[in-house]
Amino acid sequence: MVGSGDAAAEIEKLYAAVPQIRNVFYVMGKIGEGTFSSVYLAIARLKSGEDMKFALKHLIPTSHPTRIAAELQCLTVAGGDDNVMGVKYCFRKNDHVVIVMPYLEHECFVDILHSLSFQEAKEYIFNLFKALKRIHYYGILHRDVKPSNFLYNRKLKQYALVDFGLAQGTPDTKIELLKVLHSKKQGSCVQSKLHTISGTIPVPREVVLPTSTKQSVKRHWSLSQINPGNSAKEGLLGGSTQRSVFGEKNFNVHSTASLEVTNAKSTKQPKTSDVASRKLAARKTVLAKNTSTGVVRKTASTCPASLTCDCYARDQVCSICLARTRQVAPRAGTPGFRAPEVLTKCPNQTTSIDMWSAGIIFLSLLSGRYHFFNAGDDMNALAQIMTIRGSQETIKAAKQFDKTVLCSKELPAKDLRTLCEGLRRVCMVPALGSEAELQKQRTSLQLKMIENQDGWFVEQTISPAEDIDKSLNCAPMTEGTVFKQYNMNGWDSVPDEAYHLLDRLLDMNPATRITAEEALLHPLFSDLI
Ligand code: ADP
Ligand code: MG
Ligand code: ZN
Repeated sequence: MVGSGDAAAEIEKLYAAVPQIRNVFYVMGKIGEGTFSSVYLAIARLKSGEDMKFALKHLIPTSHPTRIAAELQCLTVAGGDDNVMGVKYCFRKNDHVVIVMPYLEHECFVDILHSLSFQEAKEYIFNLFKALKRIHYYGILHRDVKPSNFLYNRKLKQYALVDFGLAQGTPDTKIELLKVLHSKKQGSCVQSKLHTISGTIPVPREVVLPTSTKQSVKRHWSLSQINPGNSAKEGLLGGSTQRSVFGEKNFNVHSTASLEVTNAKSTKQPKTSDVASRKLAARKTVLAKNTSTGVVRKTASTCPASLTCDCYARDQVCSICLARTRQVAPRAGTPGFRAPEVLTKCPNQTTSIDMWSAGIIFLSLLSGRYHFFNAGDDMNALAQIMTIRGSQETIKAAKQFDKTVLCSKELPAKDLRTLCEGLRRVCMVPALGSEAELQKQRTSLQLKMIENQDGWFVEQTISPAEDIDKSLNCAPMTEGTVFKQYNMNGWDSVPDEAYHLLDRLLDMNPATRITAEEALLHPLFSDLI
């Protein structure tokens, strides 16, 4: 973490951007780097003389001031209890903002996934529901629930939901600034609301703040002065065209009420000037699968207008289909964790989108697979969901939120226990020498979620050295395939309640999906409440 030239230079840059930090903290090194922030571990000396660790989140200077203020307000109002990260302090200089949080040392999800006992997995998800119940009570949609935003300290059994950088408010949210983000006419409103949070940032009594720092923080902390630069993290301000979160092309040109996952014969030609969608002639469903198979997707812009759709028998939604018109709706988050209503751009999204994401985490815990879904775009992500939840179920649920999903091939819903137990069996590889080797093996296994012609997942084993592409042609795993299972850790007796809860979390219909409050009362957790 510390020591390398690069790390030292990064720390110097942080000190240079927000010099007050140097007066309070000794910055040890960078511990997280996202698209919109860098997070550092720092130490401060308390009045008691004791040293305490903090996490310093330095937001990219181009973040919209309201967005930054809303993230901070989520932490100050909803944070600090029930597994929701709190905030200690905030520094600002010019357009640089640093949020100071208590530091929670945590595990990397994928590193511990295979060593978790069933009981531990259960406690993990239970504690996530606790955090979700709290933020949903405050009318916060987190929108980016995933393991890297839910910190877990295994030794201390401590948990913390972090990262409100994409959060939105329910219509009756208790977070004032999320209302501002919601508001269409945010212009003057933003200015006035911003002032209301100036000075409300809690100053921790226990942190020794040199007088000069205190003054400079007070003087500088007025978010309304921050340059309203690009809001890269969310594109909803003023209800304008959505900005791409993941750097994909933005195809949100027109609004349409339907999303065609596939181009079945019955597909109507959209009345748009979109040349690529004029000549649709494909016959069959595209079954999306792992994008890590080396197939490079063409972007819509490279697709010649004369081509017909080439999804058929391929493992990707083709560029022609991707070029179809899209509806503009909130769609933040990470594709593999996005709920069906987010993927289909349903405009009225509720806190249940976070419950879906929690369901995907639970699916990873139960199956030992991470990332479970790793599609690079929404249509492939929806196709991947369909392979698990079934095409009819998807179509039916989509109707509930006013979306039409077309699918020419029927995919049956999978039995969740069979699916998870099958995948987990493959993860229980015999311990092969070194940890590095085992890690290599795991990595290659994670890449192998393969859709066969019947629409079922087929698991195959290949040696880590083998080309992943080759594995596509391997024979499916037979019942006789032997895996030495070491320490079952309770995974040999997962109760039905676990799969019942998973089914309720992965309810395709957000209106009937289980809430965090209900999930905490689920019989699976009878020993925890
Ligand atoms: P981003 O918006 O860039 O994703 P996050 O708030 O999710 O930023 O933080 C990025 C990473 O930094 C997290 O995944 C976590 O590893 C680390 N991190 C964030 N907050 C804390 C904290 N309070 N304690 C310890 N680590 C943290
Ligand atoms: Mg994050
Ligand atoms: Zn196509």
